[in-house]
Amino acid sequence: MKVHTLVSEDYGENTYIAETGTNKAVIIDPGADYESIKGVLATNNLSAEYVFLTHGHYDHIISAHNFEPSIIYAHISEKELIQTPAYNLSSYMGSGISLKNINYIEGEEGFVKGFKYMHTPGHTGGCMIIIKDDCLFSGDTLFYDTVGRTDLPSGNPRMLKESLKVFERLDKNLIVYPGHGQPFTLKDAYGSNYFLR
Ligand SMILES: [Zn+2]
Repeated sequence: MKVHTLVSEDYGENTYIAETGTNKAVIIDPGADYESIKGVLATNNLSAEYVFLTHGHYDHIISAHNFEPSIIYAHISEKELIQTPAYNLSSYMGSGISLKNINYIEGEEGFVKGFKYMHTPGHTGGCMIIIKDDCLFSGDTLFYDTVGRTDLPSGNPRMLKESLKVFERLDKNLIVYPGHGQPFTLKDAYGSNYFLR
């Protein structure tokens, strides 16, 4: 799957635009500015079919309001955080983001719109990873050599440790596209990441 990456200037957050078919794209974590996202879509002749939120932190959802709520998907356990500026931390950034009426996915894992999701609480209570073809979008659950912090609202280090076990049963050739930083293979992460040992 061809994946375009936009890095937000302010927060170093990765917004991914994945080409899912002819002229079709899915956006993962629209934290980059909307003009840039629109630019990538236009340049590549794509239209956004769906938007997935790996979790609800402000730096991953800044541009989400530009999309129809009906095409946005997040995990049900993230609902309160997505609707509450003090929890998604947008209130501290002077914006106050509260997304309403988006689609909430239930269960520990499954498929939505051809993407596999796995609920991986820990960084926040409703974090999920998203997998399609050879791509794994890990949000702030897994980075190359570390994991997401667990000291923010709904964070829980014990749950994160448990969630990291899901990577054991996944194909190690998957390319991991993290919420921050460069992509890497899951195999590489097992060599570099203390938290996966
Ligand atoms: Zn986060």
